[in-house]
Amino acid sequence: MTLQQLDIPRRNATCQQCLQKLANEEFYFSLLEESQRQDFCKCCWEQKNKPTASFWKTRPLKTQSQSNPLLIQKEARALAHLKEMLGSSDTLEEQFFLALFLARKKVLSFKEEITKYGTLYQLFEVVATAEILNVQKINMLTVDAAKVQIEIAKILNEKTCD
Ligand SMILES: [Zn+2]
Repeated sequence: MTLQQLDIPRRNATCQQCLQKLANEEFYFSLLEESQRQDFCKCCWEQKNKPTASFWKTRPLKTQSQSNPLLIQKEARALAHLKEMLGSSDTLEEQFFLALFLARKKVLSFKEEITKYGTLYQLFEVVATAEILNVQKINMLTVDAAKVQIEIAKILNEKTCD
């Protein structure tokens, strides 16, 4: 069974209002209204009326300094698995736990919680690419955390090519 996926576009290259390049900004703000995405530089955002829709704030990526290549491989694998699983209703718990794991590793950045189609989603931005992933939020109380931990450990420690 597949779920209805929200299709949230990547960040725009320039501010919606003044057309400045967002990569040069210290922060930028993203507004999500009826699945339409608008990005604003800090100045334009501050001049706007407070939005009622979902929005989030991002610091553009300048340089990527990662030290442990094994860890990066593991994270890249976890991210690839998460993307593969998104849209399938059979692995919602694994998806959510993987997203939390990747957010802790700063591969993903949590942005906003939204309700669509009667379902609660958390929006995560892939820090390296500004891609937005929407992950269905799981009620932790109903989750067999031990089982999910085992599944995720399997995913993360699976043998690569040897
Ligand atoms: Zn602007």
